[in-house]
Amino acid sequence: MGGVSCLNCGQAADGRLRAAVWEEEEKGRLSARSAPLCAACHEAFLAGRLTRVEVARRFHAAREYRPAEWIGRVERDSLLDIACLACGALLPAGADPPAALACPRCGAENRFAERHAAGGATRLTASLATAPAEE
Ligand SMILES: [Zn+2]
Ligand SMILES: [Zn+2]
Repeated sequence: MGGVSCLNCGQAADGRLRAAVWEEEEKGRLSARSAPLCAACHEAFLAGRLTRVEVARRFHAAREYRPAEWIGRVERDSLLDIACLACGALLPAGADPPAALACPRCGAENRFAERHAAGGATRLTASLATAPAEE
């Protein structure tokens, strides 16, 4: 283990606490990825003090990639709320997601948590039961 650092502040992260973001592939297709966060930044994310737009901007900056204007819309993107934090598949979560759900594609157990953002609270995939092999 080791080597995982928080995408937002650079502190050590355990790899389980994550935030989903979009990555633009060739031909403009978006696929879900996730960024590891330390406990403090993850708490700030769930409290709405750290926005998904900020996380996404750092995610892209780390890859020296300049996202197009869609980046400003990720804050309330309900698809990212149900993205598997290990493989990016969209989970079959209903309007009231369970506390934990195994991804049908990769098998990773995703845990949901409540996030308080400007528009109200939403439940989203917030952590993994076990940290994925680091990219
Ligand atoms: Zn951090
Ligand atoms: Zn998955």
